[in-house]
Amino acid sequence: MGFLENLGENLSESLTSFSNDVTTITKGVIDSNGLHSQIKKNDETLKKLYEDLGRSYYNATKDSPSEADVQRIRQIADIEEAQVNLRAQLQTGPENPGTAATVVCPKCGAVTEKAKFCKQCGAALE
Ligand SMILES: [Zn+2]
Repeated sequence: MGFLENLGENLSESLTSFSNDVTTITKGVIDSNGLHSQIKKNDETLKKLYEDLGRSYYNATKDSPSEADVQRIRQIADIEEAQVNLRAQLQTGPENPGTAATVVCPKCGAVTEKAKFCKQCGAALE
């Protein structure tokens, strides 16, 4: 299925649940707590929609990104790689720290992405 078809499907599902919410709002008076929870719910729905949209867009364009997206896509790829390594370390345990993409800080022992300085304590990592 193409990017736009997937997107259309996701959006129409979300719109259905959104119009149900709107119906709820117009049916009665909503007190302050109701407003807060509605706002929170909408924020969560928005966050999820942006996430879905971003993921669809990423998958559709990562092989030929526009110039504006290149840096973000590179960052996502880097972080995804780091996550794989960090999760692998979680499974193998602390006796096997340090992989190609991560380093162990000699000062505080934090496992961080390869960088010049530790994100935890600021010590030089090289
Ligand atoms: Zn450190």
